[in-house]
Amino acid sequence: MADRHVVVIGAGPAGLSAAFELDRLGIASTILERSGHIGGISRTVNYKGFRFDIGGHRFFSKSEEIEQFWSAVLKDRLLERGRLSRIFYRNRYFDYPIRPLNALVNLGPTTAALCVASYLKARVLPPKGMRSFEDWTVRAFGRRLYEIFFKTYTEKVWGMPCSEISADWAAQRIKGLSMASLLRSMFWPQPKGRGAVIKTLIDRFRYPGRGPGEMWEAVAAALKDAGHPLVFDAPVTRLERSDTRLLRVWTADGRSFAGTDFLSTMPLRELVLALDPPAPTAVQRAAGALGYRDFLTVALVIDQAEVFPDNWIYIHDPSVKMGRIQNFKNWSPEMVPDGRYTCLGLEYFCFEGDGLWSASDADLIALGRRELAQLGLVDPQQVVDGTVVRQDKAYPVYDDHYRENVEVIRAFIERELPNLQLIGRNGMHRYNNQDHAMMTGLLAARNIATEGRYNLWAVNADAQYQEEVREGEVTGRLVPERLGS
Ligand SMILES: Cc1cc2nc3c(=O)[nH]c(=O)nc-3n(C[C@H](O)[C@H](O)[C@H](O)COP(=O)(O)OP(=O)(O)OC[C@H]3O[C@@H](n4cnc5c(N)ncnc54)[C@H](O)[C@@H]3O)c2cc1C
Repeated sequence: MADRHVVVIGAGPAGLSAAFELDRLGIASTILERSGHIGGISRTVNYKGFRFDIGGHRFFSKSEEIEQFWSAVLKDRLLERGRLSRIFYRNRYFDYPIRPLNALVNLGPTTAALCVASYLKARVLPPKGMRSFEDWTVRAFGRRLYEIFFKTYTEKVWGMPCSEISADWAAQRIKGLSMASLLRSMFWPQPKGRGAVIKTLIDRFRYPGRGPGEMWEAVAAALKDAGHPLVFDAPVTRLERSDTRLLRVWTADGRSFAGTDFLSTMPLRELVLALDPPAPTAVQRAAGALGYRDFLTVALVIDQAEVFPDNWIYIHDPSVKMGRIQNFKNWSPEMVPDGRYTCLGLEYFCFEGDGLWSASDADLIALGRRELAQLGLVDPQQVVDGTVVRQDKAYPVYDDHYRENVEVIRAFIERELPNLQLIGRNGMHRYNNQDHAMMTGLLAARNIATEGRYNLWAVNADAQYQEEVREGEVTGRLVPERLGS
């Protein structure tokens, strides 16, 4: 299709998958990337040969097409890995998902008895309302267990009190887990069947030998070989439009890129506010109201071959700010240049501009080292090096009004700028994992080839689709909704 040229904004999984599919369909594209790296949030950082992700990126999908895409690109470089991830609380490791016997032993007889008493109290005198995550969880498990297993981590991830998070989210997130089911599983083994299938899906995952970045660098190399330019350090800051279509986009340094079609993975808020002439006031207001949660990793190099066997640990301890620790050599041995060392990724959830985000790298490294020592996980003398990576807009926030705000923007773009398609995670303000972000890119490319048949907003409409939850499992994966005032 020589008459089409597509401008793709962003070289993350969605933009790269779209360009890859466009190439397959015989359509030329140019990718504009704000930063100097490939893979977006799914990149792998290389610090003196120590590699780490933004988070830790498991490759698994219920979509056969996506699994095949990954296999075709990386072949045997895509390793199959087992998962171990536990909760660390008060110097003890709790199995994750929670197993009652293990929890009882770890809590000790006194705390365990207090937990049971607090549960019974919640049965007899349940919290009055049922509005918040806190109400729901206290009613289901009692206040003590809520405080140990639910409160701290949830608040670290989302930066809001559990008393302000909607009870719907708890009901959805902690689906299938109840005190009765916990006690039952103590005495009766898990039934085989569906549960076992989900378990296999989640207990094993694929992972590129050198992290997710290896996948996206391979895709970018293939695009380069096929003659599609990828322009780095090209943040799109202005989108020039007529009344009926997008004409060209401008990067911060004044270069312009015209196209017949445009695909955007840049944050929806920024996209709308960069339209020229500006979008109507109501659309700008909707865009301005979209919120994000940000994230930073303090990566510490430890002069120790083995620190702990988990891929990652959830830190429920309220005395430290870190939320999770990744041990990247347990994801793949190739993530460290020398097996005598370990590289831990300490994860802090924050808001851009808050105290953590604005702290100097040296202060954050000192904080990480101090907290590791405080938890008793690593002798601070063994920490020999460190670096910090900040990721803005790691999570699109689902607040009271996000749905209607996205709807206002979507309707405007579909009406006024039909040659622009929104794809990916922040591009659609959707809590998408790689597979769904990729799927929107693939379908958008096909829409260009076939003049539009796929509804990209139907991808991942069911938030449960990708990561089904095992009993006892609570992660930061699904997004809580804030209570209305
Ligand atoms: C902590 C964490 C853990 C995760 N774990 C997993 C996991 O285990 N498995 C999984 O599948 N997914 C995981 N994800 C999700 C995954 O990272 C995303 O789904 C995926 O990266 C989204 O791809 P994308 O292309 O839509 O967006 P992004 O990855 O955000 O890429 C967008 C790209 O656009 C560029 N850009 C932004 N603005 C502009 C602009 N104005 N001009 C030009 N370029 C611009 C950015 O620099 C970036 O490169 C995780 C995410 C987080 C935050």
